[in-house]
Amino acid sequence: MKNKDAYEYTKVRSSIWQIAEDNGVYCTLILGSSMAVLVDTGYGNRNIREFVEKHITTPYMVINSHGHPDHIGGNHWFDTIWAAKAEWDIIRHFEEKPQSYGLKEIKTGDKISLGDLDIEIVTLAGHTRGSIGIFVPKEGILIAGDALNEGLWLFNYGALLMKDLYETLQRTIQLDFTSYLCGHSNKEYKKEKLLTHIRNIENLKVDESTKKDTIGFETYSSVYQDAIGKSEIVFTRDRLGN
Ligand SMILES: [Zn+2]
Repeated sequence: MKNKDAYEYTKVRSSIWQIAEDNGVYCTLILGSSMAVLVDTGYGNRNIREFVEKHITTPYMVINSHGHPDHIGGNHWFDTIWAAKAEWDIIRHFEEKPQSYGLKEIKTGDKISLGDLDIEIVTLAGHTRGSIGIFVPKEGILIAGDALNEGLWLFNYGALLMKDLYETLQRTIQLDFTSYLCGHSNKEYKKEKLLTHIRNIENLKVDESTKKDTIGFETYSSVYQDAIGKSEIVFTRDRLGN
């Protein structure tokens, strides 16, 4: 169901809303009976705090899935932001405004009760070293930021190596979720789609003909497609670790 507002948003579940920020970036609001969580703050040109406070009646916390500028740009609207400690310097690296808010540490394995549902923090290191996912067991959904995007970027400050991404994908597919949401889509992807990323890395193409400039980086692109779906991994050569 789509609702027109200052922000357009999609109720993936009654308790999980995918909020369309600017330029195809999505933030996620998780609404529990006693507490809510906003995952990511977008570019921050619009007042996402006002949107959140208009739609919830409970206290809430704001979590950054990772530190890229299109996901932390609205941090300045809030007083406190929770993120993995490994991501703090990446947040500071990409923060475009003087940091006006406090960072608090959230750890892999942390479980937080939102009343009628819980969330659990999982590591999704790869896209950046401190990328995290927010698992909502009751709904079987993992909110993954950019870590599992259909077009997965593995370059820029703070990105890990291809082998680290591979390990993360192998570990993540063992987790007990059925679908996941990403930071650049309002689609709900089936967990098995992670296999296309895994197979892409196992058959990785490092093809000079795919070389291009992506936001100032000389990147390569490996595309893999099968019956499940499509994976594109965009990477710089140094991410291959050799
Ligand atoms: Zn990102």
